[in-house]
Amino acid sequence: MPVADVKGSGFVAGLMADVRAKNPGEVEFHQAVQEVVESLDLVLERRPEYRSARIIERMVEPERVVMFRVPWQDDRGQYQINRGYRIQMNSAIGPYKGGLRFHPSVNLSILKFLAFEQVLKNSLTTLPMGGGKGGSDFDPKGKSDHEVMRFCQSFMTELFRHIGSDTDVPAGDIGVGGREIGFLFGQYKRLRNEFTGVLTGKGLNWGGSLIRTEATGFGAVYFASEMLATRHETLEGKVCLVSGSGNVAQHTVEKLLQMGAKPITLSDSNGYVYDEAGITPEKLSFVLELKNVRRGRIKEYADRFEDVVYTPVDATADVNPLWNHKAQCAFPCATQNEINAVDAQHLIRNGVYVVSEGANMPTVLDGVRQFIDAKILFGPAKAANAGGVATSGLEMAQNSMRMSWTREEVDERLHRIMKAIHRACWETADAFGARGNYVHGANIAGFLKVADSMMDQGLV
Ligand code: NDP
Repeated sequence: MPVADVKGSGFVAGLMADVRAKNPGEVEFHQAVQEVVESLDLVLERRPEYRSARIIERMVEPERVVMFRVPWQDDRGQYQINRGYRIQMNSAIGPYKGGLRFHPSVNLSILKFLAFEQVLKNSLTTLPMGGGKGGSDFDPKGKSDHEVMRFCQSFMTELFRHIGSDTDVPAGDIGVGGREIGFLFGQYKRLRNEFTGVLTGKGLNWGGSLIRTEATGFGAVYFASEMLATRHETLEGKVCLVSGSGNVAQHTVEKLLQMGAKPITLSDSNGYVYDEAGITPEKLSFVLELKNVRRGRIKEYADRFEDVVYTPVDATADVNPLWNHKAQCAFPCATQNEINAVDAQHLIRNGVYVVSEGANMPTVLDGVRQFIDAKILFGPAKAANAGGVATSGLEMAQNSMRMSWTREEVDERLHRIMKAIHRACWETADAFGARGNYVHGANIAGFLKVADSMMDQGLV
């Protein structure tokens, strides 16, 4: 069923008109809300009480938005000013939880779309976490470690008063990895004079969980594997397109290799590499060192290994050639809207029939509709990449108990959670007459738990 092929869309049209009027210019936020409310039309027919309690209207309004100045000094002694944000979207089922993104493109629209998605994603994980998101337009690329530290300390000097282990627990996202979480945690601890699980993605020596770094990528692959199992297939021997080369992409490739698949691409914001022979564990080790230690560009992969084709980004092109290779599976793991409608056509035409979204909202709405019409196995981000935040939830649980689980134990729990999310999406889609439509399944399953909790808690 196409995403929008549902009855009663008068409500959707009215709600979207309000959302656009109240949040002018926030196109990414409009897109994320549109995709979800199209699914929820199916629910409102059966549960009109959500309409009278105006649950959806409340869910699209953040509980709180904090926006602040982040002044810091660069290595030349110049003063720099960035803008910091935290969107506390919904706390009906637990403390706000969601990553921090440091990227020059960060603005209110992007963070509100991410926070809105996060509410439903966190609900799907089965763990008690509300939804939030934050970050800054600061660009860590090309900055020294000292500059990044000074920025993080200034950012936390304002953020610390709005977060806490029972209030709001941020984590990493684009541009925020282990290094940044370390600097942020250090400053929080210093300001509060307490050692608590206020951030996740922490170092293993100071409260971090094994497998947290790997979790989003591993989870996206587990989700793909569950989708394939519905057709009695596995990932063994499947050719896979992967975009990005950061945290999520790296560990997607790692798990694909463990499952016997053949990943053949990686990218960054300057271009992509196509390695027809396949990325091997040795080549992946090179990427980890390149990206996490030397902080270099993916082009160096093509300089280092033979028969690899590097294609720089062409800013004038309206398609991404990475999505135009023969393959069976695609794992978009870079950023939002990286698969447009034409890219989606290319993927389908090239034989791709499994798409598992590692990044948040990497496919435009029209692309999603094409995947659903073509009846391919399409795992939307809020389900497929929920392994990261689920393992953050496991990190919070370990912090509360002041103990740590083994690598195997965390991976096993992550795997179980991804299977449970897959089952919830599948069964919910089926129950609402949309068999095999993981978009409806994820949106509705995530929504119901939050909506029922909001109903229980009164008008707040
Ligand atoms: P990283 O910063 O580790 O890596 C991001 C990768 O995507 C880099 O290769 C980066 O290239 C590329 N990229 C980022 N922005 C753009 C852009 N505008 N155009 C082209 N390439 C781009 O981030 P993560 O791997 O953590 O995050 C990737 C995606 O996964 C995001 O959508 C994030 O929200 C999502 N996600 C992450 C989770 C996590 O646990 N980390 C959890 C759930 C979702 P370059 O270095 O050149 O910028």
